[in-house]
Amino acid sequence: MTLNTVCLTGVTATVAEIMGFAPPADSAAPFSAVTKKAEIKFEGRKASRALLYNPDAVALWLHQKYTEYFTDAMAVSDMAIPLLSVMPSVTPVCFGSMYTGIMPEKHGIMSYTKPVLKCETLFDSAIAAGKKVAIVSTTGDSISKIFLEREMDYFIYGDHHTVNEKAFELIKENKHDIIVVYNGNYDSTMHGKAPEGAESLEALKENVETYRKFAEAVKSDWKDHDAIFGFMPDHGCHETEGGGGTHGSDDESDMNIVHFYGFSPREN
Ligand SMILES: [Zn+2]
Repeated sequence: MTLNTVCLTGVTATVAEIMGFAPPADSAAPFSAVTKKAEIKFEGRKASRALLYNPDAVALWLHQKYTEYFTDAMAVSDMAIPLLSVMPSVTPVCFGSMYTGIMPEKHGIMSYTKPVLKCETLFDSAIAAGKKVAIVSTTGDSISKIFLEREMDYFIYGDHHTVNEKAFELIKENKHDIIVVYNGNYDSTMHGKAPEGAESLEALKENVETYRKFAEAVKSDWKDHDAIFGFMPDHGCHETEGGGGTHGSDDESDMNIVHFYGFSPREN
């Protein structure tokens, strides 16, 4: 078993450093490859916009085995980085760590529960720095619940199509500094129809296509900004003996993920 070595807790400080504000005090170090690339692409300037796309349960092994499906994600991005999720590898635990920069035992969500996080998150740090933040997500899902009660905008809808429509609208409006978008459609079909079931692979392709469209929207609608965008899953998945899909284990299929990041320098 080969586990990735860089933990997704680094997301928080990476986004904060690229955007030029202080991350939560205890957050893990940023991904140096990503911050260095941003410095090159933005010629030393700090980014003023971020579009963070969170497709649920997209495993590293899917990228390895179905590389062709990821063509457009790779093409619109500037880089990919293999990352390690956290245990247990379930959604609220992992997004809790991704957006606080700390391990589950520190942020307190250590099982499939969705309490509102009381500790400092990336969003609190951004708000303290005067940034305007939006979360666009689906009803009842982790991201829609654990980051509530902040001075930011929440757009919560019944299905991911409406979520994505709203996110494109927000990008065009160009009023938020950080937009987080959650899509749980691959995770949903994966649990019911297995990770490599036909419907699941269609959902995976849809996630890649959605990300490509977000990247293009960032590049066309945020021309006056240095902007970062990312394809940022929370954990992987594996097939169960019964023919469905699941995650939550410390096996590499659940723990190894890959993030893509792209940089869109301002045009004037
Ligand atoms: Zn998940």
